[in-house]
Amino acid sequence: MDKELLAMLVCPLCNGKLKYDRDAQELRCHYDGLAYPIQEGIPVMLPEEARVMDVDEKLHSSSERSSGRSSGRSPGRSGDA
Ligand SMILES: [Zn+2]
Repeated sequence: MDKELLAMLVCPLCNGKLKYDRDAQELRCHYDGLAYPIQEGIPVMLPEEARVMDVDEKLHSSSERSSGRSSGRSPGRSGDA
């Protein structure tokens, strides 16, 4: 998948940013709990084609995201006006 293309993709339901799961070949929206399939390199951005994620998957993905950011190097970000 092209990273620039991925950056442009948003959830058609909530317009939220999607998370690319390379192993599963899915684009996941954690707001809606949906995983959009990528078929032959082309994201299928149709809610009726999306897979409803299990609660466990959502929890796993969110914890994975927070732990991946543990080495943050912008401590002043919270004071951003
Ligand atoms: Zn969404």
